[in-house]
Amino acid sequence: MAMANKAIILASIGSVFPSSVDKLKKSSTGVQNNFRVSRIPSIKAVQSPPESATGRWARQRRPQNVDGDFFVDHTCIDCDTCRWMAPQVFTRVGEMSAVYKQPACKEDRLKALQALLSCPTSSIRTEVPPPDILEAQKTFPIPIEEKKLPGVYHCGYHSEKSYGATSYLIIHPEGNILIDSPKFTERLASKIEMLGGVHYMFLTHKDDVADHKKWSTRFSCDRILHSEDVEVCTDDVETKLEGSGPWSLGEDIMLVHTPGHTEGSVCLLYKPLKILFTGDHLLMRESGLDIMEIYNKCSVPTQLDSVKKLLDLDFNWMIPGHGRRIEFKDVQEKNDVLKSFVQEKYTQHSSARTKWY
Ligand code: SF4
Ligand SMILES: [Zn+2]
Repeated sequence: MAMANKAIILASIGSVFPSSVDKLKKSSTGVQNNFRVSRIPSIKAVQSPPESATGRWARQRRPQNVDGDFFVDHTCIDCDTCRWMAPQVFTRVGEMSAVYKQPACKEDRLKALQALLSCPTSSIRTEVPPPDILEAQKTFPIPIEEKKLPGVYHCGYHSEKSYGATSYLIIHPEGNILIDSPKFTERLASKIEMLGGVHYMFLTHKDDVADHKKWSTRFSCDRILHSEDVEVCTDDVETKLEGSGPWSLGEDIMLVHTPGHTEGSVCLLYKPLKILFTGDHLLMRESGLDIMEIYNKCSVPTQLDSVKKLLDLDFNWMIPGHGRRIEFKDVQEKNDVLKSFVQEKYTQHSSARTKWY
């Protein structure tokens, strides 16, 4: 694909249809699908003192953790990252994470350390300084599905400035794309450099920009953000998307305007692997699909109209900025789930509409 600087051109969306699932919770009513969520043994909630985020107490071990080396302290912001990165170790108890099982093998320990390094608030800690932390640092960025999704990486190092959002890297022969901003660390930057650096930094929306300036300085990359989401701290981004798109980045990538969560929210469709990176437009939480109504800058109907746009897109992976990745069995399943979700939300907000199709 042609990926020269600022090679963003207007393009038209074509209807398309994909083809394959994995684990995810059935989130909406009325749809039979194969979604499932791995069950994590629950542990009993323990009464703890009022959880203030200040003081030395905040950095102490929550009593909800099981005994052992790893623990979560009281500063957890409940971003879910550790629970999907290391579900063998972390679970949710009392609106925060806790260790329910200490890592019992090398693989589980590595995942727990990767979660520790990715926690946006450094809330995951160990009683003893981990001698293998350097080895864990070297594993970032982490390939997310080496066989099915070659060249797509989870950057880790979630930033509190981005509310703990996840950042991804797509390796592309004509220029790598960094999606949203991880916390800047030179160690991660060096690893990304070994993978070819960053040509474009695509910012899904204004909330998840974190250390974009540092990444831009390090790689001289072109940052892309919708003009509606440009603020003082992002005023110098190289490319500001105007209007409602869609836009193409070469032949492989389509950028789709999905206002709702913010006016300038944009999803990235990576056509070769049929992945839609959704930012905060549409999330997958432990409880199911979510549009985070309470944080929406636009109306719920606007957001739902943007979800409906996804019915025309050819993808079977949904990778959000927060929460879990979803692999749909095929386009039919993707569309059934999205339609059901939209209908359910319209029903909940029936003052807006009762039928959408
Ligand atoms: S990654 Fe950190 S902040 Fe997020 S849920 Fe886990 S312990 Fe809490
Ligand atoms: Zn957001």
